[in-house]
Amino acid sequence: MSTKWTFVRVVYYMQKREFVNSFLEEIPLGETPHSLPCENPYSLTAIRESSIVKAVRQRIVEHLGKGSLKLFGNTEHLTIKRYGGGKRKPRLLRRVLYILLALALLLFLVCACLLQSASRAVPVLNYHQINDWAENPLTVHTDQFEKQMKYLKENGYHTITPAELLDAWQKGTPLPEKPVVLTFDDGYVDNYQNVYPILRKYGLKGTIFVVTDFMSQYPNYMTWEQVAELNGSGIIDIESHTLSHPELDKLDKDDRWHQLKDSKDILEERLNKKISFIAYPCGSYDEELEQLTKDAGYRAAFTVHYGLTDPSENPFVLDRIPIFGGNSHTFLRFKLRLAFTPIFAPIENFNRSLAREGHSVLTRIIPTP
Ligand SMILES: [Zn+2]
Repeated sequence: MSTKWTFVRVVYYMQKREFVNSFLEEIPLGETPHSLPCENPYSLTAIRESSIVKAVRQRIVEHLGKGSLKLFGNTEHLTIKRYGGGKRKPRLLRRVLYILLALALLLFLVCACLLQSASRAVPVLNYHQINDWAENPLTVHTDQFEKQMKYLKENGYHTITPAELLDAWQKGTPLPEKPVVLTFDDGYVDNYQNVYPILRKYGLKGTIFVVTDFMSQYPNYMTWEQVAELNGSGIIDIESHTLSHPELDKLDKDDRWHQLKDSKDILEERLNKKISFIAYPCGSYDEELEQLTKDAGYRAAFTVHYGLTDPSENPFVLDRIPIFGGNSHTFLRFKLRLAFTPIFAPIENFNRSLAREGHSVLTRIIPTP
């Protein structure tokens, strides 16, 4: 006849370890299939007779107090758990503490978001191509773009130029309610074909950073005539994106200067206006470049670092909010980025640093819109 065993599982806390150790030594175990050493957080010991199980329960109740015990199981399997009474917090209390901690964190993030939006931080949206044929990561489809512009218009946003932004920060000129800067990098012909009419339709303003060597050179970039027409429209502000779009931080000092200063001079001559802003190609910059950009006569420069621009920022490394990503860029993403950049930007920037270090799996676990 096979022997019937009952397992007693005693869950206890560190400070009760001595008690459990000595207590288990008192249990007449007989032949045991399992007799594990008494280790935190529990001990598993097999007992053969139900009368002993009863005694075990009684013994534990005597030592730990009935009210604090939870007994599970039957004679086949008896689990005795003790909660409370020790230094360790009860599980329920710990859960409540975790929830409170999470709520406090959330509140902190929301406050940070609200504080930042209440301050003079401004979203600078960064677009590239707006068309329905180039399915690449820089594209936003035309109907999607129009939806976004309509949203800005209907939700009280006011588009401003980089000059208006800097004037507000440096000279104290007033900004309209809910200011936003729309920027378009490179000078694609679809900016002329699609962006211009849509901005005009909704009474919005935009800034195009053009690569001067590419104008009137390649079919997917604007001609100089188109650039001039946009510049005279009162809707589009033209600024510099260098001569030929190199990553400036990889050039020597002379070439950097050439790219910064000559593109500015060419634009000023062709458009008969002062060029005061530049977007660094690929967002690449370093400290020397910031100084050179200043020396070349620019007032400010934009990167592709994700974030709101803020008057406390160095004006030669202004953040922007990327609005591109081909088909994956949904309207919801646009709205989330517009409203919650102070929350999402640090997460996205952390993700990017993880990706750079090769932790691609981690970046998939931490999604951002
Ligand atoms: Zn570019």
